Amino acid sequence: MERTLSIIKPDGVAKNVIGDVIKRFETNGIKIAAIKMIHLTKTQAQGFYAVHKDRPFFDSLTDFMTSGPIVVMILEGDDVIAKNRELMGATNFKEAAEGTIRKAYATDIEKNVVHGSDAPETAAFEIGYFFNDLEIQKR
Ligand code: ADP
Ligand code: MG
Repeated sequence: MERTLSIIKPDGVAKNVIGDVIKRFETNGIKIAAIKMIHLTKTQAQGFYAVHKDRPFFDSLTDFMTSGPIVVMILEGDDVIAKNRELMGATNFKEAAEGTIRKAYATDIEKNVVHGSDAPETAAFEIGYFFNDLEIQKR
């Protein structure tokens, strides 16, 4: 059993696809252990994406992530980090496989609808960034 952090980014919320994204998780056997909608400040977005602070797209990415509300979730299941990344599709929507979330809804390499942790260490950091113990369902 594994956990990962998923975010429906501002473009996904604006496109009214929160339900569709969650449906894809549920139909693939993934459980939601925590969920909330928030609107990040610039400082909060910079903290979340600190690993990308030296990338040329950092300022634009953190502006985008503060442009509207996001839905933040903890997903739970066997191999859920990799499974979620598979359901999301490639970072660049032009390379995203048929049937993935990004293939269906992304319009831009930056505005790509969803975030998913990429490893156990990043999942632990990202889950702790958004959720405290009381907000996480125990099974
Ligand atoms: P992923 O979200 O697939 O793990 P990265 O961790 O590499 O991708 O990048 C984080 C986010 O930064 C991406 O989801 C995307 O929104 C944005 N991003 C990545 N590469 C670029 C780029 N070349 N130009 C603009 N934005 C980018
Ligand atoms: Mg990443």
